[in-house]
Amino acid sequence: MDVPPDATVAATCPYCGRPFASTDARDLHVGEVHGAACSAAERADYEAAHEAERDALFYYHLRVVAALGVLYALTVLLYMVALGSDLL
Ligand SMILES: [Zn+2]
Repeated sequence: MDVPPDATVAATCPYCGRPFASTDARDLHVGEVHGAACSAAERADYEAAHEAERDALFYYHLRVVAALGVLYALTVLLYMVALGSDLL
């Protein structure tokens, strides 16, 4: 697989040689694509990377929900101010 000249390769797949920018991405790839052939240590690395990815996704969704809540509150507040000042 071609890697752009300015990209850094942190890890490569031991089964297919695919380059990855992080070891977590390599661990996820090995567990998902080469799950039947990987060793117990690689399986443990995959499960740890999968758990870390799930946690990161949970906090991302939490931030999105908080941002939507703030946006909703600001919209309602702006609407109430506009109603109170007879702009509408
Ligand atoms: Zn691979």
